[in-house]
Amino acid sequence: MAEKKGNSEANVVSDEPPGTSDAQPDEELFPGVKDVNTFSQQALKSVLVATRCSNSLPTGDGFDFYSTFHSVRDVLDIQGRQILQLIQRLLKQQNVKAKFSESTDALELEDKFDVLIDANDQLLERVGVCLDEASGLKKPEATLVISSAQQKNIDASWNKKKNHPSSNTFRLLSARNIQRPQFKFQDKVDNSNKPFQQKIESKPNAALPLDESLRIPEGVSFEDLENPEFRYPHPYQYELNHFVPSQDQLADPEVKMYPPLEDTVLTMVETVGDLTKMCQTLKQQKEIAIDLEAHSYRTFQGITCLMQISTREQDYIIDTLTLRSDICMLNDVFTDPNIVKVLHGADSDIVWLQRDFGVYIVNMFDTGQAARLLQHSRFSLAHLLQFYCNITVDKQYQLADWRIRPLPDVLLRYAREDTHYLLYIYDRMRKELIENGNEQKNLLLSVISKSTQICAKVYSKPCFKESDYMDLYRKSKKTFNSQQLQALKNFYSWRDKTARAEDESIGYVLPNHMMLQMSAILPRESQGIIACCNPIPPLVRQYLIELHNIIMQSREAPLTKVQNVPATQPSAYQHPKYAMDSLLNCPHDRSHSQNTKLDMATVLPPDSSLIAKKPSMFASQESIINVKKKPVLTALGWNTKEDGVCLTTAKQIALQLRKSFSSPFEKYLPPDVVSKESTGLQDDKPSLQMDVDHKHLWKLKPNTVKKATKRREEEELDPETGQPQHLFAPPAKKQKVDTFTNPVITKEEEKTQVSLRQQMAPKKKNKKKKQNKDYLYEAEDPTISRIQDEQVALGDSKSDRLETQKKREEADTDNTEKRQKKKKKKKPDLKEFKPYDYSKADTSIFEAGNSKKNVFDPNAKGRKKKQNKSNKVKNPFFRNSKGQKSVTFSSGGRGQGKGQR
Ligand code: AMP
Ligand code: MN
Ligand code: ZN
Repeated sequence: MAEKKGNSEANVVSDEPPGTSDAQPDEELFPGVKDVNTFSQQALKSVLVATRCSNSLPTGDGFDFYSTFHSVRDVLDIQGRQILQLIQRLLKQQNVKAKFSESTDALELEDKFDVLIDANDQLLERVGVCLDEASGLKKPEATLVISSAQQKNIDASWNKKKNHPSSNTFRLLSARNIQRPQFKFQDKVDNSNKPFQQKIESKPNAALPLDESLRIPEGVSFEDLENPEFRYPHPYQYELNHFVPSQDQLADPEVKMYPPLEDTVLTMVETVGDLTKMCQTLKQQKEIAIDLEAHSYRTFQGITCLMQISTREQDYIIDTLTLRSDICMLNDVFTDPNIVKVLHGADSDIVWLQRDFGVYIVNMFDTGQAARLLQHSRFSLAHLLQFYCNITVDKQYQLADWRIRPLPDVLLRYAREDTHYLLYIYDRMRKELIENGNEQKNLLLSVISKSTQICAKVYSKPCFKESDYMDLYRKSKKTFNSQQLQALKNFYSWRDKTARAEDESIGYVLPNHMMLQMSAILPRESQGIIACCNPIPPLVRQYLIELHNIIMQSREAPLTKVQNVPATQPSAYQHPKYAMDSLLNCPHDRSHSQNTKLDMATVLPPDSSLIAKKPSMFASQESIINVKKKPVLTALGWNTKEDGVCLTTAKQIALQLRKSFSSPFEKYLPPDVVSKESTGLQDDKPSLQMDVDHKHLWKLKPNTVKKATKRREEEELDPETGQPQHLFAPPAKKQKVDTFTNPVITKEEEKTQVSLRQQMAPKKKNKKKKQNKDYLYEAEDPTISRIQDEQVALGDSKSDRLETQKKREEADTDNTEKRQKKKKKKKPDLKEFKPYDYSKADTSIFEAGNSKKNVFDPNAKGRKKKQNKSNKVKNPFFRNSKGQKSVTFSSGGRGQGKGQR
């Protein structure tokens, strides 16, 4: 259409193959016709003559009368057919789909007329668009700003904003006809449902050669490589693992003021020459600020459209659409460990660089992470700019279409502001981190360490699974029968397939609400599909027949009642890791709670009852949580051999502790049973079993007594005292203390207890750390931006976008509140919730002879921080597609970080 603008009307009448007119010299539109005006006047004249002629033809009774004459009827037939053919050719030439073929002779005249009217409407719509565009060319603002909306404020005098009218305006800046940048990409975008392959070809600043860095770890099978969740190694993993910040970076900084934006040189980087020159300048810097702008609506995976870089002296804006295949040149600077790269909220920037250019960062400082550690009320860049620079930035262009070229001035300015002040903010934050931290500069180092972890992220493509449609179904809260569900499933996979093939976002192909509507109604006619989708997405129109077929097929499916699908509902316990259904949980067990006092005397075998697995192939680094591996009450019936077999430290501690109390439940058991069973000296399963299904009562397994008597002889006497040993026999006089709440502590036990407390102490500290991490999740939460993307994708409602803006702000303020009320319960993230699957727990950890490395050591993190960290990032080959939160290996969901954010 782009080429056709201006002469589309002419083409309608001319019936010439497209392109003919373009080939003519500029002076003449086509032979004998000077310009469009002359042509349209001529055309209008012909149309008038034709209309007059047709009006003079007989109508009604006259027509019937004349039709009785053979000769007249033949002429009318022939002429009529010719006219139809002409119309057909015209419409075909204009790419308007209408059924006027020979075989449709059977069509009633009225039907033909309807088809013609439809076709005319389509043409007129196009003319309208072209006219808009033509007039827009004179007024660029009008073409760019497609919609803007005011955020509604409650109309009260106290919250009326007077001075910042734009601050609550949300504008979707776009342009009508943007050429798809994908057409010009040298490398074709790979949208297949397979793992993302690293794009890097050469590795500057390498400590480990490229081929070794990319080597696929042993044990990865061929099928793994086809699994979309597999992650190829990060090319700079080794360098990131071994990254050590320079002394310079850690020194007390001299805060350098930023130059005023107006006085700063702005360099546009649009050619390879510009890029090379910029790289040379950047190589001389000690630190640079970087930011990216991306587009995610008219692309499946997203496209980085712009890169902003600021040094202390100048700003650069790089056109990453035209320079896409040359940007990898920047690896020289970006992976140079001696140059600090300052970014704000770099989680998506890191993966975008990887996805689009094969560019990586070593030595990053993320001001978003610093904002968290410095306990700012909000973590957005806008907030930091306000806080440190007293600058109110205009975020109204946040969702601009960054593919627009040339970039309008407003967008250029907006983009510059994202990096221009960042190095100054970096200085200020570093200073505060050093001031607020300890002598080891723990805070500053922590920011650097967190930033390095972000650098180690590996991009993964949106992954499609057949079953994903059920998530959408559950969320929709609709009740579908089997046919409707079948349709939804097929629409869902059609949408994914089409989005990948056409390189469009799923939101552009078919927004969720339309898909659900179509599935609910299952319209018999294709017109019904159009009615379900308003405004109709272009690809739905294009594939109308395919979609209609999906509906017809689904209607043929047997109509059965769909069982209520068990959704992954959050438990009533408001704790994301607490599985209500699990046999291992008991309502009175508060050990999962953050508020559990870890230092009080409890029935918990210390340390080993709280187990954090090391990050494994299937667990992300964030998923290390303290989870109970076994019911805590295993302490009462533990399977241990005391006959000289090496016990792990944890077990020894537990054993000693176990000796120090008696279970209240045992009061109700036959004493001879108690004495044996509760010492844990029987061989197999614990004999005391909790009957969770019923009344949370303890009951004896039928074989318990038998076993106990059988064993009686074996342990009749205590080897030391020669007395019958009954650990839980009535306590001696001096021990007349309730061992349950106030256990008697022997000297040796006291030692143990102290060390227990010591071991628990860091955990309490970790609690705080974990909370910080929680904020991080929330800020990163891809769902928010995904919702936004999807809503933008609808492009139909301003209020939708406002919603998203609000949601984002809510999330932001939510964070603030949470931090202030640390002890308040965490809201469960309904979407992300997965109950912890205890069946997958590593029970081997309890087995004797197991090496210490599997046992959670709360001190280890502090002691071997570096090592630990590198362990975490060493196993990133598989990660949860749903983000980093759930413990179980999720089976669902494209965590499209449009996710991609
Ligand atoms: P920024 O980190 O603010 O520079 O944003 C970088 C890119 O992220 C923008 O160009 C947008 O494409 C995208 N983005 C930022 N905020 C949002 C949002 N709220 N929803 C969707 N995309 C966003
Ligand atoms: Mn950014
Ligand atoms: Zn930005």
